Amino acid sequence: MFLKTDSCGKHAWLAHAAAHEAGHATAALVLGFEFIEVKIPREHIARAKLADAGIVVAGGVQMHGLPDTWVPGREEDALAYFAAGSRSESMLLGDNLASGLKGDLDQWLFGIGRPSGIPEDESEPIQKRAFEHVEALLVEHRPALKRIARGLYAPLLPGAKDSVLGPDEPLVLSHDELRRMFEGVSPR
Ligand SMILES: [Zn+2]
Repeated sequence: MFLKTDSCGKHAWLAHAAAHEAGHATAALVLGFEFIEVKIPREHIARAKLADAGIVVAGGVQMHGLPDTWVPGREEDALAYFAAGSRSESMLLGDNLASGLKGDLDQWLFGIGRPSGIPEDESEPIQKRAFEHVEALLVEHRPALKRIARGLYAPLLPGAKDSVLGPDEPLVLSHDELRRMFEGVSPR
């Protein structure tokens, strides 16, 4: 997710980043969108970049190509996937960072080949269906969604076994690790 604001003032930076990316990852696994990994930069690095550039990639699902290679033909599922990040934040935390949703919808517009936007009367019914779809999807898979969100920041929890993470290293989970978390298989 791209961020232009650093926080909602109520929740930790990482809580939003993890809830957001967990939403995308869960939607991608359910909808069958292939991806490589999910990566979340460490807070101090992301904050420095935000202060410097006014915008930062606060986390992301690394797909196998840009949206214009995998969105065509699956426009509505892709919109549900893109909306899943902010919807997941709202579901798990009670609010979402507005600039995160805007950035995701821009990615979808790029994916459908209309980066400058589409008229509201055209987009409204599509968005309505996609948002209902993602709502149902995340409610159905809520336990997995929560496992994945927690799994994303598990290395930073006090007493985490996985203390090999360097202070500047991003949080990364591969597609296979996330798939196992989704399925509720306990890690080795
Ligand atoms: Zn919040």
